[in-house]
Amino acid sequence: MVKVLINGYGSIGKRVADAVSKQKDMEVLGVTKTKPDFEARLAVEKGYKLYCAIPDKERLKAFEDAGIDVEGTILDVIEEADIVVDAAPKKIGKQNLESIYKPHKVKAILQGGEKANDVEDNFNALWSYERCFGKDYVRVVSCNTTGLCRILYAINSVVEINKARIVLVRRAVDPNDDKNGPVNAIKPNPVVVPSHHGPDVVSVIPEFEGKIITSAVIVPTTLMHMHTLMVEVNNNISREKLLEAIKETPRIKLFKAEEGFESTAKIIEYARDIGRLRYDLPELAVWEESVNVLENEIFLMQAVHQESIVIPENIDCIRAMLELESDKFKSIDKTNKALGIE
Ligand code: NAD
Repeated sequence: MVKVLINGYGSIGKRVADAVSKQKDMEVLGVTKTKPDFEARLAVEKGYKLYCAIPDKERLKAFEDAGIDVEGTILDVIEEADIVVDAAPKKIGKQNLESIYKPHKVKAILQGGEKANDVEDNFNALWSYERCFGKDYVRVVSCNTTGLCRILYAINSVVEINKARIVLVRRAVDPNDDKNGPVNAIKPNPVVVPSHHGPDVVSVIPEFEGKIITSAVIVPTTLMHMHTLMVEVNNNISREKLLEAIKETPRIKLFKAEEGFESTAKIIEYARDIGRLRYDLPELAVWEESVNVLENEIFLMQAVHQESIVIPENIDCIRAMLELESDKFKSIDKTNKALGIE
């Protein structure tokens, strides 16, 4: 059993901890929090060993004063870890990489809030598992990029892609965020076109350089992101063949509006109804009726559950970096079975 330390126990970190604890070949060494809040208390109640993320005596004392069992600071445990999954806020992952992981020679996974060139490589289980095998510092790309990589893999498995044009409609904030917005606006973000999402896909799939252009707006919703794709391919392909390829690609699920899945709200209601913890849907959701082929152009619409889509990718990334499984499909399968992914 390899030992995984999760540094930053927020939206992504708490899900990664729960996912690691469900695998047979890895275990949670500990989790970190910066302050003794209810999430820190719940982590201890769940049985995770808790460490203070900031190596500072005053900070550590705050946990003790709050009556929360804390084992020490991150520096007391870092060298026991086979790998760290960093799930700290944007930009802090890079700081942790330079100030903690590299000096202590511990392998580390950063998240999508960090930059592609902060690390040795960029991970998506379908596209770059082999490339990241045995590497020391890797970034699991963002939720939007993960969703795009999965659908492009499905399309690419049956027909060569000439170019992709994609409009992203981004959720404003996660449900637990009480600081940011917008509340009543549609905000081009970034306001420049192309947006950074295309280059982020290229960080995983270098052969798409020059082929993918994205633009993005943010809307007042917390549930999911939505993408509209227009993809030009080099051959005519039937809609049936494309749907078959989408069905065969791991971690993509087709939803039919005809069955009542008319919006992201209804897709999330499905995740709630089937009893998914925190209504997580790590599968990319593609609307079946939206899949259309006009000669050599493919059109479709998909939704991304931002808080959970990257969780199985972090698990596969751990297996690749620690060389626990050389076959990406075997790793994907192990992860999916352990997490109940369809
Ligand atoms: P979050 O704010 O929910 O959680 C971050 C956690 O890290 C908090 O508990 C915070 O207290 C803690 N933290 C703060 N400073 C720290 C430090 N110095 N060391 C360790 N931990 C520290 O953030 P999140 O949404 O979980 O995002 C984490 C990363 O995952 C970011 O890079 C983000 O871009 C990326 N990501 C987020 C989402 C999403 O939708 N939430 C999706 C994909 C990727």
